[in-house]
Amino acid sequence: MPEAFLPRLAQAKTIDSLTVLERDGRLLGRLTITLEVPDPPTARPETEAVVGIDLNETNALVAVDGQERVLFVSGKAVKVRNRRTAKTRARLQRKLAAHKAQHRDTRSVRRVLKRLGRRQRHRTQTFAQTVAKRLVEWAPPQAVLVFERLQVPPPQQEQIRGRALRCRLTLWQRGLIRRWVEQRAQERGLQVVEVNPAYTSQTCSLCGQRGNRRRHAFTCPQCGSQEHADINAARNIRDRCTQLRLSGLPSTSPEARADKAAGKPPA
Ligand SMILES: [Zn+2]
Repeated sequence: MPEAFLPRLAQAKTIDSLTVLERDGRLLGRLTITLEVPDPPTARPETEAVVGIDLNETNALVAVDGQERVLFVSGKAVKVRNRRTAKTRARLQRKLAAHKAQHRDTRSVRRVLKRLGRRQRHRTQTFAQTVAKRLVEWAPPQAVLVFERLQVPPPQQEQIRGRALRCRLTLWQRGLIRRWVEQRAQERGLQVVEVNPAYTSQTCSLCGQRGNRRRHAFTCPQCGSQEHADINAARNIRDRCTQLRLSGLPSTSPEARADKAAGKPPA
């Protein structure tokens, strides 16, 4: 058993299942356990504890909390390695096609391709877990983690294969980070909420007007503010949640209604 897993195993309330599978002549065990997790707080969280989170490829995760603390997690290393894998994969696929055309044995090429895919999946999983851990450790106590709803773009036929694949991969990575954050947050009794993603990257987080995004720089022609584009987006995501909670309108959760009754002044 990996040592890193032992503390978690010690916390287990029950051990539910153990699956053993064979892969490349090695035996792997998969253990399912039940953990006891704290209940998320029922009282309304402080505005300071609301954390807006923007997920991207280059900056895998950018988070801003209500006190304007910023967390940056770079996705560059993974991105570079994934690009390299994509190139190798393309080369192997050409090789596979050539072998097929010449009626040669394709087993070895297929095996390498399979291993490559498995490594990439494993890399993305590990990365998503690390990102989630860093976020949850950085987040203020009793934080509310706010994500924008993931938008799945409609499939585009005319897109070249490499780009489409990369796009899918990024989306999958974002989904994985989300899932792991939800898991880690649950273990700590933190809340995870979702907001409407419309215009979060084009709107100025200071004045609310439309601004210009050019790569990683956001500039607002109305109020002249300049900000890292992902920080600006994360702020918008955070503020969207704060506003929803203050208005109490679209949310029907008990804490939202309790706020309205208490008549908390808008921050
Ligand atoms: Zn502005």
